[in-house]
Amino acid sequence: MEDQTQSKGQKELQEMVQKADLCTGCGACVNLCPYQVIYNDRTIVLHDCDLKEGRCYAFCPRTPTDYAFLRTKLFNQADLTPELGPVKGFFVARAARETIRKKAQHGGTVTTLMTLALQEGIIDTAIVAEDQPDFQHHGVAVTQTNEIKKRGKSKFIVSPTIAAFNQAVKGGAQKIGVVATPCQAQALAKMRSRPIADNDNQIDKLKLIIGLFCGWILSWPMFSQLLKTRTPLSEIQGMDIPPGKGKVEIYTKKKTFSFSMEEINPCVREACHYCLDSTAEFSDISVGSARLPEDWSETKTWNQVIVRSTQGQELMDLARKKKVLEFREVPKGNFEELKNAALEKKKGALDRLREKGRGTGEMLYE
Ligand SMILES: Cc1cc2nc3c(=O)[nH]c(=O)nc-3n(C[C@H](O)[C@H](O)[C@H](O)COP(=O)(O)OP(=O)(O)OC[C@H]3O[C@@H](n4cnc5c(N)ncnc54)[C@H](O)[C@@H]3O)c2cc1C
Ligand code: SF4
Ligand code: SF4
Repeated sequence: MEDQTQSKGQKELQEMVQKADLCTGCGACVNLCPYQVIYNDRTIVLHDCDLKEGRCYAFCPRTPTDYAFLRTKLFNQADLTPELGPVKGFFVARAARETIRKKAQHGGTVTTLMTLALQEGIIDTAIVAEDQPDFQHHGVAVTQTNEIKKRGKSKFIVSPTIAAFNQAVKGGAQKIGVVATPCQAQALAKMRSRPIADNDNQIDKLKLIIGLFCGWILSWPMFSQLLKTRTPLSEIQGMDIPPGKGKVEIYTKKKTFSFSMEEINPCVREACHYCLDSTAEFSDISVGSARLPEDWSETKTWNQVIVRSTQGQELMDLARKKKVLEFREVPKGNFEELKNAALEKKKGALDRLREKGRGTGEMLYE
């Protein structure tokens, strides 16, 4: 099977993605050349580039993408499912160490797996999201195991993490692991599947992708304005989306308050309405919040985990052997529920893409 996409340049990237409101802020087009930079949660063009074929266009998850080619090239055909991409195994798990769980968004599975990969030398550098003083996120390269748990939790705003990956490959890192949202994992998959002739992007250094489930991400300017109506940003210690409650909860030292989805929806980044992937299908292992019969205070200390690749399977097996993760039985119906939710997201995004006049051909975002 051959990749059906055509190579184009920065001009087309601007027209087809940035001006069309499809830019996810993933950061994949940043740090490849000096012409594109992150400004707040936007990717902006500093200088025009007249190259007819650019890595920025080739790696962007929102330029036309031959998904069938990517899946076939990167995963075992026998593992592919239409709803969730490749699935080798499905688990409910969490960090065995309570100290990790306390600093994590849910069960701390992501932090535990990245820390283990670093400890065992599977990777020498982990790219994770780091809080900035102005309530933004940046990607950061971490080489010390005890540094990963300091970058846990989710704030539901963009982290242009792949820009940090692009930076790290140019430095001394030889074996890199990345924590990625689904669109970021897609950008990495495009890098993996289309190595450039001179191997300038050194994609062979990418050894591990831990993906995050993702329903949407919020616009930093809009969401931070909304938050400021209720509390100073410096007071915020965390936030979450308890399933089935139709609200986003915000945690400060003194109080917990919430926004209804009606208040949150206008802050959702436009590009997310056209996103087909809710489970980071192009990862080695994907992690999201659990669905359990217990109440949310217990449920939120666990994760749902999809193992997708051989590397992912080996890391999960090691985590089990070293007892850094603990497991419990997957409740009946959880896998089907996740499949249905993933399918709903795909259907909605495809409908909206068609309305936009895109995605009607063989390839997505065409
Ligand atoms: C924008 C967003 C939307 C999400 N939507 C859903 C959802 O709809 N359903 C669901 O089940 N789960 C969703 N998640 C995933 C969920 O919030 C947890 O990250 C996941 O359950 C893993 O929990 P954990 O305790 O193992 O993570 P932790 O051990 O706390 O690790 C979280 C990791 O995520 C990284 N990170 C944080 N924010 C970002 C970001 N913006 N971009 C890239 N990396 C980041 C951190 O650096 C850290 O490495 C979402 C996450 C994000 C960031
Ligand atoms: S590569 Fe990522 S940041 Fe750059 S234009 Fe595409 S979606 Fe936006
Ligand atoms: S919903 Fe899709 S486009 Fe939006 S941040 Fe999540 S993975 Fe990226």
